Amino acid sequence: MSNESCSACGRAAVAARVESSHYTSEGIVRYRCCPCGRRWVDMARFDTVAGVGAVPWSTAN
Ligand SMILES: [Zn+2]
Repeated sequence: MSNESCSACGRAAVAARVESSHYTSEGIVRYRCCPCGRRWVDMARFDTVAGVGAVPWSTAN
């Protein structure tokens, strides 16, 4: 669960700005920048974000 919050200040990951995101074959890679200055890479795998019956990302947008 290390991606859920900033390891430096403890803020929730949602408070961190997403600098950029990339779709890969395994999921979505997001580069986050916390208000405290720490940056980290947040990987969201498709098998956990898509759920059952979700529309494939390739056609969702
Ligand atoms: Zn932080």
